[in-house]
Amino acid sequence: MKTILNYIDGEFLPSHSNAFLENINPSTGYVYGEIPRSNTSDIDFAIDKAEIAFKTWSNTTLETRSKTLMRIADLIDENLDQLAMAESNDNGKPLHLAKSVDIPRASANFRFFAHALTQFYSESHESQGKNTINYTLRKALGLVGCISPWNLPLYLLTWKIAPALAAGNTVIAKPSEVTPMTAFLLCKICEKAGLPNGVLNMIHGLGPEAGQAIVEHPKIKAISFTGGTKTGENIARTAAPMFKKLSLELGGKNPNIIFADCDYEKMMRTTLKSSFANQGQICLCGSRIFVEDKLYEKFKTDFVNRVKALKIGHPIEDNTDLGAIVSEPHLKKIKSYIDKAKKDPKMKVLCGGDLAKVKKFPNGYYLNPCVIEVQDNQCQLNQEEIFGPVVSMMSFKTEEEVLKMANDSVYGLSSTLWTQNLNRSMRMSQALETGIVWVNTWLNRDLRTPFGGTKQSGVGREGGFEALRFFTEPKNVCIEYS
Ligand code: NDP
Repeated sequence: MKTILNYIDGEFLPSHSNAFLENINPSTGYVYGEIPRSNTSDIDFAIDKAEIAFKTWSNTTLETRSKTLMRIADLIDENLDQLAMAESNDNGKPLHLAKSVDIPRASANFRFFAHALTQFYSESHESQGKNTINYTLRKALGLVGCISPWNLPLYLLTWKIAPALAAGNTVIAKPSEVTPMTAFLLCKICEKAGLPNGVLNMIHGLGPEAGQAIVEHPKIKAISFTGGTKTGENIARTAAPMFKKLSLELGGKNPNIIFADCDYEKMMRTTLKSSFANQGQICLCGSRIFVEDKLYEKFKTDFVNRVKALKIGHPIEDNTDLGAIVSEPHLKKIKSYIDKAKKDPKMKVLCGGDLAKVKKFPNGYYLNPCVIEVQDNQCQLNQEEIFGPVVSMMSFKTEEEVLKMANDSVYGLSSTLWTQNLNRSMRMSQALETGIVWVNTWLNRDLRTPFGGTKQSGVGREGGFEALRFFTEPKNVCIEYS
């Protein structure tokens, strides 16, 4: 049994209640560890410590902060194998994916903000003829809350923590209770890197208990949250009367639009990834595929054949394309959408959707990737986020028609467009109602760019200076001189 502990003021501690929750490995279906079930009392304790730490951390030089973040990044790289294995055990993702994407991105997040904080600047405005100059100070907010989901555990947690610390705040963080291990290991790394006590505090536990206590606490000045839209709505309702700053990165139902003039092989390779990478559990996955009618039958045959050839296996195997679904309740949720689709005469399951058998691991949560042909965009399958290895596909005739369907969603996170026609790609990029548009690529990320969604996919943007602006409070100073 691996026991995880909270990290408060530089100490590893159980929760005040001494209660624990089970930690399950989804690839085996067995409990392999325990995590503290923290509540308000643990949050109160951490907040007292973070408040003391803020006084010194917010006044350290930029160079000191930058060097500390850089050391954390280096130690993440040095511990790549251990962290990748921990991520794969907790989440069920293929080990090679954790090694090549999740963990390198976690160190990149720290390294990026270690540099960014030394380049961050504020504005000044001179009123000519009035002997007046305004300049803007950007001060750390104080204590901030960072709450992250289970799909890219360390990747998304560090995407919040790194800019929050870079800006001089102290942090109370809560990772998903389903995937807590790399957050625990990160605390050991921060200790080794010399991050002062109380600057980062990691509290484990359930969302409605530990997470809610962070959101409710009046001393927490801002919440950076990534997770489901319903949870985001609840957080906004709780935080708004206290006028906290909010950054909400929420769900998506992203269109993947394929025109007949695309680079077919590149599109096919990428569409397999954008549909099923991380078992389809990436908020940016393109779960609604729209194909121009001229290409539709060819695409359908080739895509289904390629999906059938994907290898579902234990995450540790090098040739595994899809590992396990993160948890049994999530597997059941995904399955319920597929079972409904099977009974619907307007839908056709083209492949997958049944439980996959993986040798030696009969209790693991494995599902064969599923492609479902639908007839209209208004169906439940195209309107609700499933967040698993399930994509729908349908054909379209014109640019106008597909644009209307792509935008016909309560979500607006990302969209992907496949075409060689420059004018069309320019027109559509302007008109798509999503925070991110990828043209002839997917998940191609430059950390300087604004990241986030429109509509029910969220509020605010992460990334680059946007994140540093979020984690600081601007104060304008106006001076008239004679
Ligand atoms: P949840 O919303 O269920 O949980 C996210 C985090 O919030 C977890 O740490 C959870 O804790 C915590 N939480 C739950 N309830 C509360 C509460 N009342 N107050 C404070 N915190 C709470 O999302 P999932 O973990 O299921 O993640 C999947 C979702 O995340 C999908 O909808 C996906 O689209 C979205 N997502 C969005 C991304 C984006 O950038 N827009 C990126 C990645 C994912 P616990 O786990 O312990 O319940």
